[in-house]
Amino acid sequence: MASRPVKGTDSLPAAPDAATRRRLTEDLLTWAEGVRADLPWRATRDPWAVLVSELMLQQTQVVRVAPRYLGFLAAFPTVSACAEASLGEVLRAWEGLGYNRRAANLHRAAQEIVRVHDSIVPDHLDALLALPGVGPYTARAVLCFAFERDHGVVDTNAARFLARAAAGHRLGPRAAQDLADELVPIGSGWAWNQAVLDLGAQVCVKRGPRCGECPIASSCAWARAGFAPPDPADGTAGTTRRQSLFAGSDRQGRGRLVQALRTGPVEVARVADVTGWPEEPERARRVADALVGEGLAEYVDGQLSLPGQAP
Ligand code: SF4
Repeated sequence: MASRPVKGTDSLPAAPDAATRRRLTEDLLTWAEGVRADLPWRATRDPWAVLVSELMLQQTQVVRVAPRYLGFLAAFPTVSACAEASLGEVLRAWEGLGYNRRAANLHRAAQEIVRVHDSIVPDHLDALLALPGVGPYTARAVLCFAFERDHGVVDTNAARFLARAAAGHRLGPRAAQDLADELVPIGSGWAWNQAVLDLGAQVCVKRGPRCGECPIASSCAWARAGFAPPDPADGTAGTTRRQSLFAGSDRQGRGRLVQALRTGPVEVARVADVTGWPEEPERARRVADALVGEGLAEYVDGQLSLPGQAP
């Protein structure tokens, strides 16, 4: 049994022994088989489709991504189709997902894959990490969910599981990744990582984990330590992402502007109205300039439009 963490010290509970870990693995995989949600990106191993889904899921909830994912792939079924489109077309297909910068990253990633990798999504970590918008999580997710490689995938849900159930103490980024890699059952990377993500999303949630219905409660390190405070997930790498307030933010005005641009160019004189800040034209212009600076829009003949969409 894991030893009890001592509050306020660096003492760490002992890691679960090999037999406990084995039971944890088996119990989690068995549970996940029975509850796995039928999500469209789980039905494919197409690396392009998986890359698209992972970019979309970076900051948008599953329920919003699911219908738009299929629409996006219908418009851009291949890397080449996306690379050859204008950014404006890609931004239109991104409608409803928010954080439009990700669409620009995906477009640039597609162009990079065409240019450097002969239109084939690379299956090496370093090559994936070199693509725009692809970080450690997304790169490993593509390797695991498209190529079925045995990498540990660490997002905020997985990090919580790792800290509470597998380690029983807070984890830094390197320790979380190392532990995630170590836990993957050989040859079962796809199923294992889906199971970890599902457990973190459905049971081992951030506040008020449902330990009473948890399939791995008997082997969870934190449970075996009597849930001694602090919660191991608190302060663990990747578990404390904070979302700034949307209402009234520049992000809100920016979103309104991109949404208006999807239907056509906007007169520069109307930018303040479209952002919802008729009394703050300088702020509106600053947001418009930022969009242009990031390549998400362009000024043409006194109008603002999506790239490649000016009449
Ligand atoms: S027992 Fe509780 S803390 Fe441990 S993995 Fe299950 S839900 Fe998370």
